[in-house]
Amino acid sequence: MKKQALFLVAFVATLTVSAQQVVRNGDPKLTEQWTPEPRVVAPGKTAADAPADAIVLFNGTDASAFAAKDGGPIKWKIENGAMTVVGGTGEIHTKQGFGDCQLHIEWRTPAEVKGDGQGRGNSGIFLMGKYELQVLDSYNNRTYSNGQAASIYKQIPPLVNASRGPGEWQTYDIIFTAPRFYPDGSVKSQAQITVIHNGVLVQFNSHLLGGTQYIGVGNYEAHGPEEPIILQDHGNPVSFRNIWIRKL
Ligand code: MG
Repeated sequence: MKKQALFLVAFVATLTVSAQQVVRNGDPKLTEQWTPEPRVVAPGKTAADAPADAIVLFNGTDASAFAAKDGGPIKWKIENGAMTVVGGTGEIHTKQGFGDCQLHIEWRTPAEVKGDGQGRGNSGIFLMGKYELQVLDSYNNRTYSNGQAASIYKQIPPLVNASRGPGEWQTYDIIFTAPRFYPDGSVKSQAQITVIHNGVLVQFNSHLLGGTQYIGVGNYEAHGPEEPIILQDHGNPVSFRNIWIRKL
């Protein structure tokens, strides 16, 4: 019995030594991961074009993925490959809900500069209808930092101001993680967002304090895993085009 135990110890020790030798000798196979294999997705011709697995929300002519607040067709103007806010007709929302996602959206503030601060080229992208990524003409237009373009409204200023001038098309590439809630409605994990504005990183894994508010501190109210995206009518004729999204 004692002999058998000794043998076992020796055997295990030998195995351990040989495994260590393999590691030391640097067998590259030990750190190769073959499964699961990432599925193939055909990318667009440029980074701005929708890849094959994206849901196209607006292609320049068809806005049927969006609805007005009353559920009917949107009353924004659709022409020249863009849709433009018609002040007073109200916000629009996607008919489909989204949670974790990658969103590409292009926007343009009016070439004719009117107003200042929050009154110049204001719109917004509300992820899950609650978390506003600000759209604003922030080119030579000072306002509060956590209210300028690419801010999470009244919460998180952008890392830099990467704004193009009025009348120029700008891009947001957004990676959003929806908040998670416990069954009792308390927050399990905050919403997180990364945003690239015109190719420049402006929000890097930013943690949101809750729904963005005009007055008061943001706070969370439990909601489902997928909610419509809202585009804001702030009265200014801001345009949007080439909107596509990938669920993550
Ligand atoms: Mg806004």
